[in-house]
Amino acid sequence: MKPAPFAYKKVRSLDEAVALLGEKEAKVLAGGQSLIATLNMRLSSPSLLIDINGLDGLSGISEKGGAVEVGALARHAQAERSDVIAKHAPLIARAMPHIGHPTIRNRGTLGGSIAFADPAAELPACLLALDGEVDATGPKGKRTIKAQDFFRGLFETALAPQEVLTAIRVPAADKGARVGFAELARRHGDYAIVGLAASARADGKGLSNVRLAYFGVGNTPVRAKKAEAALASGNIEAAVAALDLDPNDDVQATARLKKHLAGVLLRRVAKQLLEAGS
Ligand SMILES: Cc1cc2nc3c(=O)[nH]c(=O)nc-3n(C[C@H](O)[C@H](O)[C@H](O)COP(=O)(O)OP(=O)(O)OC[C@H]3O[C@@H](n4cnc5c(N)ncnc54)[C@H](O)[C@@H]3O)c2cc1C
Repeated sequence: MKPAPFAYKKVRSLDEAVALLGEKEAKVLAGGQSLIATLNMRLSSPSLLIDINGLDGLSGISEKGGAVEVGALARHAQAERSDVIAKHAPLIARAMPHIGHPTIRNRGTLGGSIAFADPAAELPACLLALDGEVDATGPKGKRTIKAQDFFRGLFETALAPQEVLTAIRVPAADKGARVGFAELARRHGDYAIVGLAASARADGKGLSNVRLAYFGVGNTPVRAKKAEAALASGNIEAAVAALDLDPNDDVQATARLKKHLAGVLLRRVAKQLLEAGS
């Protein structure tokens, strides 16, 4: 299928993008790896595409003040090869190779993945597991939104219609930080049937501040809070038993299978969290 007709504008400033977003049915175009597919399938028919790829200053990846900041236009491939991500945001480094295929990662952006908020996507769950945040700029200026408040529903976020996501930020990993990541997909590069991104702090021989963020089990990334508490007490099987996820059947798997796989992933990720040097 071909997309419905649309106008196209490559903007040169954030202000211009924000102003144009005030037009009815306008949409931001970043890497296009999700948006163009939805246009071609006529799941979306914006009247105007606002191409933000020419904006300066939105592609950096840096560590400062104990946080890693990634510009919205940083490509997945850029993050995958980044020493800053490898050293200071190891959860994102682990997730990257699971996002689609190299051609998709060459164009797709981190900001696009977070703004699109696919419930089976890796990065929204990583952002939630790391207690990260996003910066957005709209007609009233810039604001910061915590990950826990950002993902609102199926492909629905806290971004207002005229806001552009400009950066994501996560705490930089220090010596006591532990992360874990695993997903089950039909083929490598497919969206996950179920996935789990996790962070914790080493606490003696155990863990504290455990955050388990599942993807592919609901309309948004979902924290498994009862299992987090059980895992902090060091008992992996108790954590699996405490999993209180409520997935729906989808095209990939039944809810029952998803719940089973969530337990399988938790055992794998718990081992990663509990291993020193993970
Ligand atoms: C075959 C295939 C397999 C894939 N597999 C995976 C996978 O396994 N895991 C995964 O996570 N993703 C996967 N993707 C999607 C890929 O990661 C996309 O790059 C990503 O979802 C969207 O990023 P983008 O830059 O391409 O955004 P676009 O497609 O340009 O935009 C996506 C949406 O976000 C909005 N948007 C984008 N940037 C901004 C911004 N800065 N501010 C406000 N709104 C914005 C757009 O308006 C649009 O609604 C796959 C894609 C394909 C084609």
